[in-house]
Amino acid sequence: MAKRTRIIEGTWNCTSCDARDILARHRNCPHCNNPREETGQESEFDFGGVDAASGRALREGVTDEKARSAAAAGVDWFCDYCGASNRGDAPLCRHCRAQRSDTSRTLTEDAEPSHVPPPPPPAPRGAGRKWLLVGLSLLACFGTCMYWGSRSHELTGHVTSTAWTRTVHRESFQRVRREGWRDELRMTSPRMPVNGQGEVAGVENIRDCITRQRGTRQVADGTERVCETKTHRVQCGTEEKCTRKKLGNGYMQEECDDVPKYCKESYEDCRNRTRYRTEPVYDLSCTYDTYAWTQVERREESGRDSAPRWPELRTGPVDRLRREEKYVVHIGYTDDGQKEHQLEPRSEAEFLSWKKGQAVPLQVNNFGSVNVLAGDVTR
Ligand SMILES: [Zn+2]
Ligand SMILES: [Zn+2]
Repeated sequence: MAKRTRIIEGTWNCTSCDARDILARHRNCPHCNNPREETGQESEFDFGGVDAASGRALREGVTDEKARSAAAAGVDWFCDYCGASNRGDAPLCRHCRAQRSDTSRTLTEDAEPSHVPPPPPPAPRGAGRKWLLVGLSLLACFGTCMYWGSRSHELTGHVTSTAWTRTVHRESFQRVRREGWRDELRMTSPRMPVNGQGEVAGVENIRDCITRQRGTRQVADGTERVCETKTHRVQCGTEEKCTRKKLGNGYMQEECDDVPKYCKESYEDCRNRTRYRTEPVYDLSCTYDTYAWTQVERREESGRDSAPRWPELRTGPVDRLRREEKYVVHIGYTDDGQKEHQLEPRSEAEFLSWKKGQAVPLQVNNFGSVNVLAGDVTR
């Protein structure tokens, strides 16, 4: 594919008379005859817009001999004495006839023409940024609320009442009937507990075995075809791509080429996969005898005093007792109305450290959550 080359002519603005869009071929302003200089951005050429997709300059190319010769003359230099711009291949200043010196300044330009529109931001990124903003504002709002809620103030409450509940369960090691999978059952003799310890449940009298479903398993059952829609890039014709180079003399050289264009194409990606079906698994389930701790009696006592007591329960030789205790301390305080906070001490000692009428320093935050500031405390 052949490359296509074009010469684009720039334009400049005269700072002496404000004439605009003067073609680069005019080294002097056609209106006031002011020579183009480096000062006042006179030699910063405008090359017009560029097509964002191809990079092709929107201006028509120039083909006349004068323009071609000017473009090929090399980088402009500025006269040390009068400041006028001169062709790169001219040894003398066309304006004042001064000699070009080693120190004469030359025209410097940006690599890219100044009027390239910025490429539009890709859509997903733009959308992402939008969501990021929404997220950030929500976070800021949430943060403010959390800050407000966590602000706290201190006040003093009083213990209004205390309560205790103590429960004793009597459990007996008793013969029970159970069911189990035959392969998991091993005949074992039971052993009775001594002082509620050292017992062995045992397995005895395995009987009445029947077939029951124990679970399921996956069984291969032929193959099935599974397809997925995927995309890949394929060449779909060509597109024009251009590069531009400023020549340092008011002209720009553009090279355009046809390059392969790629498009997304969807296709079906199919393969064979083993299909499975679910099958029940059967096994032998049997009845057997064993021993287990079984609750036979439960007694509870409660009170609002400060002397918690355990209920009395008598135990037999194969019995054991299991104890539960629960304590509650109610603290009343005034904070925009009469309120109550409830503590649950974990031990009797902790419970007994709370006395009815006792003052309790509290910290209450705006969500209403209460912190007890006293020393040894359960929340
Ligand atoms: Zn002018
Ligand atoms: Zn000069």
